[in-house]
Amino acid sequence: MAFYRDTWVEVDLDAISENVGNMRQLLPEHTQIIAVVKANAYGHGAEYVAKTALASGASALAVAFLDEALALRKKGITAPILVLGAARPEDAGVAAEENISLTVFQKDWLEEAGRYLTGRKLSVHLKCDTGMGRIGVRTLQELKEVEKIVNQQSCFYFEGIFTHFATADEIDTTLYEKQYSQFQDMVLNLEHRPPYVHCANSAAALRFDQSPFNAVRFGIAMYGLSPSPAIKPVLPFPLKEAFSLHTKVTHVKQIHAGDTVSYGATYQASGDEWIATLPIGYADGWIRRLSGQEVIIDGERAPIVGRICMDQCMVKLARPVAVGTKATLIGKQGDLSIPVDEIAEKLETINYEVTCSISSRVPRIFL
Ligand code: PLP
Repeated sequence: MAFYRDTWVEVDLDAISENVGNMRQLLPEHTQIIAVVKANAYGHGAEYVAKTALASGASALAVAFLDEALALRKKGITAPILVLGAARPEDAGVAAEENISLTVFQKDWLEEAGRYLTGRKLSVHLKCDTGMGRIGVRTLQELKEVEKIVNQQSCFYFEGIFTHFATADEIDTTLYEKQYSQFQDMVLNLEHRPPYVHCANSAAALRFDQSPFNAVRFGIAMYGLSPSPAIKPVLPFPLKEAFSLHTKVTHVKQIHAGDTVSYGATYQASGDEWIATLPIGYADGWIRRLSGQEVIIDGERAPIVGRICMDQCMVKLARPVAVGTKATLIGKQGDLSIPVDEIAEKLETINYEVTCSISSRVPRIFL
């Protein structure tokens, strides 16, 4: 798609392919990879990431909402898709028609959804809440009640059962182990074991044996990002970052002692200084708290000075550069690099939030 601004995200699809390929090699043969492409593939671009993951060893996709699954179907993707979050019962018919699997965990939901299922069967994955405290059945009794409805009503196909870990990315494995054994217990108590039994996110899939199960939900590590800084040193293969963010200098000027930059005049030059303007701001997800963060321009790191505006920000240069010079805010330029984790650390958040936050106003280019 054509775009008319000099700020863009580059998504390295070869990196995604390599990360999926490495995961494929790590897993037992019977364990499938469900590529998690919710939230526009964590900001990377769902269609291209999904197609790349499927071509590189993943056999199914997962998203958070039905809309995301329908958008992938519209792009011609026919692979199995699981909606991980709660869907509305009245949308069950749409999901079934498009062969999209939904997550279920409430009796009332199943009874209501049944009324909208007049055509194709709806494939469902039963969600167990073993300690995440978000959605899912929490007791064996609830599990049995929900399973009974799914098995008894011909409008449903019992395709899978799963749980989600709250601390698989932490060094302390106490809660992970508790959740794991509770999930195993729930699976053992089923009347019928469905075709898909899955619990691992990236962290669990990278760290722990998944052979008792037959699928993993592979998200953050597919994008080349570590699920947490804590487990970076114990990763079984190097992750290759796919996301980078670039822009081009729109203006360069020299300012002098006492001159100020941007709203609030919070930055004041202490002498002669070169200032470049970049066409990216908080409406692109480059939020005001990133003031002070460095970007790479012309082989040097240059700090953002003054407040970040909605659409622009300013950096202080060691020497003047030409208008049109490329500036890298995330990723590699020459020998220098700014990993996603550096931005996450600056913002006191997780790398997931950084790539998800770069707004849809920034075009994605696929390499
Ligand atoms: N499964 C569920 C239910 C999730 O919510 C997520 C992500 O938040 C994932 C799997 C993927 O997790 P990760 O990105 O850590 O691999």
